[in-house]
Amino acid sequence: MDILFATSNIGKLKEAKEILGSYNILSLSDFDKKIEVVEDGETFEENAVKKATEISRILNIPVLADDSGLEVDFLDKAPGVLSARFMGEDTSYDIKNQYIIDKLDGIEDERRTARFVCAIAYAAPDGRVFTARGTIEGIIGRSIVGGNGFGYDPIFFVPSLGKTTAELSMEEKNRISHRGNALRAICEALRREGII
Ligand code: IMP
Repeated sequence: MDILFATSNIGKLKEAKEILGSYNILSLSDFDKKIEVVEDGETFEENAVKKATEISRILNIPVLADDSGLEVDFLDKAPGVLSARFMGEDTSYDIKNQYIIDKLDGIEDERRTARFVCAIAYAAPDGRVFTARGTIEGIIGRSIVGGNGFGYDPIFFVPSLGKTTAELSMEEKNRISHRGNALRAICEALRREGII
């Protein structure tokens, strides 16, 4: 069976293929149609479901779509669903990350808690829709550390590893990441439902 993983990000696609195993995972680059879905939901799940259902309707195949972001507890869970657009889409992550560090200046570790969240939705032409959520817990660091990963990784410190997620290799990060956990959970749900 073919499933489209609605991303043009090669890293995300590779991870989905590894976790979903033998199923034929297509990506948006396998289709000529340019599809834009506005992510205007209030939750990660809402955005993932909207993306999966709209693309599944347009292309008439089963679709997996994700939405993810960083929740900082001290900032009332901001930037949350606005993670990519926080301080403007074109603002560099060095600036966004330094802004968050400065906002938490003088705050003790216990109140620096944060998590990456990823919601993945499956939607199919037969009308079936499922969602799964994965998270990884951490604390906001006091400086920008590490050159791997992307986005908020250099300020996302995982106490049990003593490192930020920007100091992990891609394989190490995939094993514990919100996206890896969400992919494993949706995979389990699809197996339970007899879809894969
Ligand atoms: P999207 O779900 O790919 O649109 O990601 C939303 C935004 O959340 C990204 O642009 C990043 O700012 C942030 N984000 C999501 N996952 C990660 C991660 O694994 N590391 C760092 N930032 C992330």
